[in-house]
Amino acid sequence: MRAVLLTGGWIIDPATGREETADVLIAGDTIQQVGPSLGAGKPADDALVVDVSGKVVGPGFVDLHSHVNSIAGQRLQALDGVTTALELEAGLLPVDRAYAEAASAGRPLNYGFSASWGMARAEVLCGVESEASLLQALSVLGDLTWQGDSNPGQLSRWLGRLESELADGALGIGILQGYAPRSNPAEYRAVSELAARAGAPTFTHVREIRESDAGTPVDGTEEAAQAAMDFGGQVHHCHVNSTSRRHIDRVLSTIDRARDGGAGITVETYPYGAGSTGIGAAFLAPERLLAWELKPENLVMVSTGERVRDETHLRQLRQNDPGAPCIVEYLDEQSPADRALLEQSLAFPDSVVASDAMHITWPDGSTDSRQWPLPQGGMTHPRTSGTYARSLRMMVRERGYWSWLEAFRRCSYLPSQVMEGICPEFRKKGRLLPGADADLVVIDPERITDLATYFDSTRPSLGVEHLLVNGEFVVRDGEVFPEAYPGRGLRGAPV
Ligand SMILES: [Zn+2]
Repeated sequence: MRAVLLTGGWIIDPATGREETADVLIAGDTIQQVGPSLGAGKPADDALVVDVSGKVVGPGFVDLHSHVNSIAGQRLQALDGVTTALELEAGLLPVDRAYAEAASAGRPLNYGFSASWGMARAEVLCGVESEASLLQALSVLGDLTWQGDSNPGQLSRWLGRLESELADGALGIGILQGYAPRSNPAEYRAVSELAARAGAPTFTHVREIRESDAGTPVDGTEEAAQAAMDFGGQVHHCHVNSTSRRHIDRVLSTIDRARDGGAGITVETYPYGAGSTGIGAAFLAPERLLAWELKPENLVMVSTGERVRDETHLRQLRQNDPGAPCIVEYLDEQSPADRALLEQSLAFPDSVVASDAMHITWPDGSTDSRQWPLPQGGMTHPRTSGTYARSLRMMVRERGYWSWLEAFRRCSYLPSQVMEGICPEFRKKGRLLPGADADLVVIDPERITDLATYFDSTRPSLGVEHLLVNGEFVVRDGEVFPEAYPGRGLRGAPV
């Protein structure tokens, strides 16, 4: 592979805090040198020289929460600055099959999967045969047996299943606790203990918080924080923005307190006021909506763009196709007070950016395409296309909360650190240093912005000029290379 020399960019290494105008020399899949005027010394005669002066150069973003697992979805994420897209919150089961399928189809970006708590329970409680598919995982979430408790025999069977997934290289355990909100807290403690013992991180969509469900067996954030304290494991709290809604102050202070007490708990945020999930989710039941300060009209079906009319309509939709994706408007992005809440979760110290990117659905039911530009009519959540560019626009360009160094720390370095224990390969990601992986993004700091909207959700972001994965261009001069599939599977070290 031809060496690449990026000249004259503003380089940022969030691991050391270094930032200056310098060149970056890439040989094969590795960063070889970073320094001033590397071009002058003719380091490699046949190097491809790319002038990036006036641009910001940093390690590509590591997304801890991407459900796309597709070529089409990864290309949208590439144009948003992502070089590694990990499915950790839901996970896939069996991971062996998920890795094999991704490898045989090819991926533009690096990828990896956690073990799926949801599907391990579905196998044992509902007799479902796992197919390493997110759509299948979404479709079980509305099942009342699945939402219920496990007896001791069932519990030990699905814990065993998760353990064998870790042995097969799963990157931790993804726990959709919020979708089984009344299930026995002892189960959450058992899986947290197992993960801590195995040295595997957990990624939790937390149970209901007490403000939105006075009858919750335990507050969702407290439960996660307590598990981190008691078992000493590494607990990652997913999308703190969407599960906390207007109670972000209280939730963040719960996390703060746990961290002060030594708990290994990390958090992530995405910069949108609406979430996305299957219409059959427990917390979208008509009788539960009010506690979330929602009405049926705050739900929009992704495949049709249809707004839910009333309770009767909602019941019908939940019955017909509980896995059908919908948009949930939990904050009003037009309201300054609600926008301030979103900014607060993004600004929380050490909170990482993670997209919760969803798969794309086309009207014929397909969820992937090698075609680029994407075929018309694909629908997803705009966070799939725009999370990172939107965060940079809001937090760096418009509001000045983050320097560029801080932005790369939250988008690249801190998420890599979350993964280093389970997968040492992440020690070479999230950094712009000689010897680090050549996963790089070159950004135009004046232009970077999201363009995707709730109704034009596959519109790519603007301002990612170049993106390299393992030393290969996936984006060059703002255009996707449709022949580039340099992504590699990242697996957990055997435990
Ligand atoms: Zn979630």
